[in-house]
Amino acid sequence: MAEPRVFTMNVPTCPDCGKLLPAGPPHALCPSCLMRQALASRTVADGDAAPLPPPAPEEIAAKFPQFEITECLGRGGMGVVYKARQKSLDRWVAIKILAPERVGEAAFAERFAREARTLARLNHPNIVTVYDHGETDGLFYIVMEFVDGVNLRDLLREGKLAPKQALGIVPPVCEALQFAHDKGIVHRDIKPENLLLDRDGRVKIADFGIATLMGATGGMAGTPPYMAPEQAAAREIDHRADIYALGVLLYEMLTGERPTGDFAPPSRKARVDGRIDEMVMRAMAKNPARRFATAGEFGAVAETLVDSRPPPMPAPKPKGMLRRWWWLFLVMFPVGFALGLAAAGGLRILIPEKYEVEAVVEIHPAPGDFERPMSPMFFGNVFEKLKSRRALDEVVRRLDLSGRWGVSANQATQILQGIISTQNIRGTDLISVRVRHTDFAVAADIVQAVIDVYRIGSGLNVIEHERPHATGEPAPVFRLNLLIGGLAGLLLSPVLALILVLVLHRFVRERTAGL
Ligand code: ADP
Repeated sequence: MAEPRVFTMNVPTCPDCGKLLPAGPPHALCPSCLMRQALASRTVADGDAAPLPPPAPEEIAAKFPQFEITECLGRGGMGVVYKARQKSLDRWVAIKILAPERVGEAAFAERFAREARTLARLNHPNIVTVYDHGETDGLFYIVMEFVDGVNLRDLLREGKLAPKQALGIVPPVCEALQFAHDKGIVHRDIKPENLLLDRDGRVKIADFGIATLMGATGGMAGTPPYMAPEQAAAREIDHRADIYALGVLLYEMLTGERPTGDFAPPSRKARVDGRIDEMVMRAMAKNPARRFATAGEFGAVAETLVDSRPPPMPAPKPKGMLRRWWWLFLVMFPVGFALGLAAAGGLRILIPEKYEVEAVVEIHPAPGDFERPMSPMFFGNVFEKLKSRRALDEVVRRLDLSGRWGVSANQATQILQGIISTQNIRGTDLISVRVRHTDFAVAADIVQAVIDVYRIGSGLNVIEHERPHATGEPAPVFRLNLLIGGLAGLLLSPVLALILVLVLHRFVRERTAGL
C-alpha cells in the first residue's frame, strides 16, 4: 500500500480530475490520472496487476544520490519515469524505475534489462538514447536521455492533429523504425504514449520494453487497439506489425478516433484526400503482405503527402442550403422594412429639408411699352432683369450672403442663380418669385431683396400682392421619404436574406469541417 500523503492547504488540484495534487513542482503529474492513463492503453504483456500510485520523487531520491529527482514524468504498464538532474554531468535525464506493483517480479526485471540492452543498440536521433541501467537497493532502473516535451497521447487529448502535423510525424518515426528493423528489432508497442515530441518538434520513440527479435512470437504482447491481427493472435510477427500500429496511430492523429469495427476512411472525418486514405488503409491492411513492405517505404509515401493540399471544400448545394435557411427570408421582410425606414430617417438627418418661399408681384410696364402690354416678351425681359448678374450681385451685397455662407461674392451670386425661380402665374399678369433654402428667414430675405433691387433698378411700379411666405410644409415630404425607404427595404429583403444564407451556410460548413 502506498503511504498516506500529507497535503497542505494551498496544494493545487489536478485540472483534469480535480483531485488534490501531492506537494511537488507546480506541473507535477496527478497520480490518479497517471493510473487512469496507464490503465486506458495498457500493454497486454504487463499482466493484470492493478497499478499502484507512483512513488513520489522524494521517496526514491535516497536510492539515487548521484541524481536530483525533481518530478514524475509519466508511467506505463511496466515503469514509472522521473525527471532528474545528473549532478556529475549537470544534465537532465529521465530515470525509469520498475513500477511499484512489479517490484519482485523477475520477468519484469528481465524485461527492464532487455529494454536497456535493446536501446543501447539503437543509436538513432529518433529513438530515446539510453545512458545506463542497473539495480540499486533492489530497484531496477534505466537512465535515459530526457525528452523535454510531451508524449503524443497528451497532444491527442486536445483533439485530432492538423493533417500536415499528423503526416509530418510519420517519416521520422518510420526512419527510426527502419533503423531498428534493420537490426532485427521489432518495437511491438507503437502507440501515442510511446512517441515523445520535444520542444523543437522532434519525435523520439520510447519504451522498447516488449521489443523482440524479428520472427519471434514472444507471446501475445502489445496494446490491443494498435496490435496487428497476427500480433493479437500471438502468431509469428515481423516489422510489419510496427507498420500496422503506425497506421492505426496515423488514423487516430488524423481523425481523433481509433479505427474500430467497420471504420470510415480518414477523408470522411478530416479534410484529407484519397491518397491519404489509401496510405492509411495500406498500412493497416489485415494481411501483412498487403502492407508497405518496409517502414522506409511507408515514410517515403507520407513524406510526399505532407505538403499535399487539402481537397477543396465541396461546393454548397444551393437547394439544400435554401431548404435549411428558408425561414430567413420571412425574418428579413420586417428587418428589411425597418432597415429601409432607418436609412430614410438617417438621410433626413444628413440632408436637411429645404423651405420654398414665394412672393407674388405685379409689374406695370413703362409708359412706352403700351403696344405689347404683358406679352411673353415683357415677362421674359422682367425675369432676365430679376435674375441678372448685376441685380443678384446687389442682393448678395445687401444681405452679406458671401459672409453668411462663407463663400466669395461671385460664388454667392452663382448660388443665388441656382435657388431663385420666376414665373408668370398662368392666366394672370402676376409674377411669382420663389427661393428654395434650408433657412426660411434667409429665403424670405432673398425674395424680398430681389424684388426691391428690381424695383429700384427698373424704376417701374412694382405692386406686391403676396409678401414672402412658405409655399408648403416640408413634413409631408419627410413622411413620403420614410414610406419610400420602407418599401425599398421590403424589396431588398430577399437579396439581404440570400446574402445572409450564403454567409451562414459557409460558416456552418467550415465549423463542421473542423477548420
Ligand atoms: P512503460 O515502459 O512503463 O510503458 P514508458 O517508457 O512508456 O513506460 O514511459 C511512460 C511515460 O513516461 C511516457 O509516456 C512519457 O510520457 C514519459 N517518458 C518516458 N520516457 C521519457 C523520456 N526519456 N523523457 C521524457 N519523458 C519520458
